[in-house]
Amino acid sequence: MSIAKLERKITARGGADDDSRRLRVVHEHEKVDLPAAERAVRDLLLALGRDPSSPHLTDTPRRVATSFAEMLTPREFDLTTFPNDEHYDELVLARDIPVQSLCEHHMLPFTGVAHVGYLPGERILGLSKLARVVELFARDLQVQERLTAQVADALVDRLSAAGADLRLDTRVQQLRPVGQGTEAVLEDGSVETIDAVVLAGGVAGSAVLLTEPAPAAASALSRVPLASSTVVTLAYPAEAFEKPVTSHGWLEADPAPISGITVSSAKWAGRAPEDMVLIRAFVPERVGPIASAPDAELLAAVTGHVGTVLAATGEPALVRIARWPAMMPKYVVGHLDTVAAADAGLAHLPSWRLAGSALRGVGVPDCVADGRRQATLALLGVPARAARVDS
Ligand SMILES: Cc1cc2nc3c(=O)[nH]c(=O)nc-3n(C[C@H](O)[C@H](O)[C@H](O)COP(=O)(O)OP(=O)(O)OC[C@H]3O[C@@H](n4cnc5c(N)ncnc54)[C@H](O)[C@@H]3O)c2cc1C
Repeated sequence: MSIAKLERKITARGGADDDSRRLRVVHEHEKVDLPAAERAVRDLLLALGRDPSSPHLTDTPRRVATSFAEMLTPREFDLTTFPNDEHYDELVLARDIPVQSLCEHHMLPFTGVAHVGYLPGERILGLSKLARVVELFARDLQVQERLTAQVADALVDRLSAAGADLRLDTRVQQLRPVGQGTEAVLEDGSVETIDAVVLAGGVAGSAVLLTEPAPAAASALSRVPLASSTVVTLAYPAEAFEKPVTSHGWLEADPAPISGITVSSAKWAGRAPEDMVLIRAFVPERVGPIASAPDAELLAAVTGHVGTVLAATGEPALVRIARWPAMMPKYVVGHLDTVAAADAGLAHLPSWRLAGSALRGVGVPDCVADGRRQATLALLGVPARAARVDS
């Protein structure tokens, strides 16, 4: 947590058995140096070719410095939480909390509204305090994604909120809408009742689960074409190359047997020992029959090609082949209509949402961002066709 610390002071309120906890939220940054900020604004005006002593601008440095100081200084408050003695387990939701923050890339204000919800765990807090938590993190140089994560982390941390129950390696066999909720039948035969669903099981995984409850969404999703790809990983001793391999990688065109490579050891620190060069070569199906050739043939073609391009004098010390059949969604003309049709196919199930690489971005960061957006929308129960999804 960068902008403030939640300093906990447990004080008795009311009777001796009152277990409320008051957490004084205090500002942790250096205090804003207003005179220095004013001087800097004056210098900025000069640098921008403006005359700070002109009658229109004489008071501008003071006003700008004061505004920035205000936008960067959260107000202190008591984050008082209470034990969840009544064992509330319904979603607590505060909608339309106004947000004003400063974009850390341009130092320009951005505004919007936040919807904050939590599933009560050991402790609860008043609805008005949710808005104060948002403001606490908004009054900083921010980006939307970090702001969201900070608010969520703070609530889970302070409330021991029942935020997550993670099941690994557990296949969902069936999803059944029941009243306002959903029943999920798991592979061990157990049935979980859940409030909202974000389906991110890939095209095939999600479409199967949607076939009965939302056939139109299943059919739209199945229209997204999927490409296959193979990743060949090669690790060479560094001395196999005359010069250090510092490139992060490159793309290739026909007739190469690969579409490109990533030099993982150069691109990301710590991916390989210092004396090794780690390479990932991509073999999409479009390169032709070699993509589906047996491992030995594929490896010979890729190693021969990469070794020639990089003038390797030795063989790779380690090789791995990972095949990804029908895994990479292709966004063809009309893709946005397909996405709209998939979302509309869920309109009768307002707490169900679709996420994942088939829809609004193939890269992992896009998938994570979209997953977060869809989870929020699912919890808000916004019907898919009415929802505005920021791009
Ligand atoms: C070869 C290759 C290289 C790539 N390289 C990059 C890269 O360098 N950078 C990048 O950003 N992206 C890369 N991508 C893309 C990225 O990996 C994917 O787009 C991303 O992983 C998709 O995430 P997802 O959550 O939509 O789907 P997936 O990662 O496919 O996850 C879906 C999950 O749902 C599970 N599932 C399905 N059905 C059920 C069910 N009934 N119950 C429970 N679980 C179920 C599946 O087992 C799977 O684990 C690459 C993809 C490929 C194929």
